[in-house]
Amino acid sequence: MRKKFVAGNWKMFTDHATAKKLAQEVVALMAGNHQIDVALCPPFTYLQTVGEVLKGTHIALGAQNCYHEKEGAFTGEISPAMLLDIGCKYVILGHSERRHKMGECDIAVNKKVHAALNVGLHVILCMGETLDERQANKTNEILKNQLDGSLAGVSATCFKSLVLAYEPVWAIGTGHNATPQQAQDAHAFIRSWVANHHGAEVAAHMVIQYGGSVKPDNAASLLSQPDVDGGLIGGASLKADQFLGIIRAGM
Ligand code: PEP
Repeated sequence: MRKKFVAGNWKMFTDHATAKKLAQEVVALMAGNHQIDVALCPPFTYLQTVGEVLKGTHIALGAQNCYHEKEGAFTGEISPAMLLDIGCKYVILGHSERRHKMGECDIAVNKKVHAALNVGLHVILCMGETLDERQANKTNEILKNQLDGSLAGVSATCFKSLVLAYEPVWAIGTGHNATPQQAQDAHAFIRSWVANHHGAEVAAHMVIQYGGSVKPDNAASLLSQPDVDGGLIGGASLKADQFLGIIRAGM
């Protein structure tokens, strides 16, 4: 039985005061609730503050990106070891906003995945098709390419530190979520990829989140699909009551 996992991707939102307050609100609303795994992924600049709020709770801290090198002359970059050092458990990699707005390709994502796993971070690896690709019936082909590329050389034993997130690009931040059936079909395809490459046992334990315009009112139908093991939440994670509404829907 897989435990559901809901993570909030705060993207480039909040400031110091609102990040602290939001984390405090989530902690208060989640008090005593261990039925579901939860992580908050604030901007780099607020990781320390949010990490202090989360200390002693079962809510994990995550970052939204990292670089693949350990250290060095890479101005403006943050290494996986730095994220671990500041208390992160997770790092989101391959988010569609990085793939499509920052031009990150699967080779770059793959280097980051290896670097993060090597220092002991858990990776939330995102993948998903654009609207054109879906309309051209290429969803599975795109997912396969992203899985092949982003996870090249990652061994089965590392999969316990990996979470996969299906995030159709056309659903992110648009208010148009995938239907529960579309999500289920994509998740089942992703799970079958894991089974084909690393065996049925690894696939059975693989947590696969759905992301893309999840709100409290559509969360239950999405999160109740057999292969949907939680959500990666953008906009709705910036309001504690909405985020909690989604978490409750996943219970
Ligand atoms: C995301 O940023 O990963 C995301 C799914 O955003 P939203 O929930 O706003 O669509």
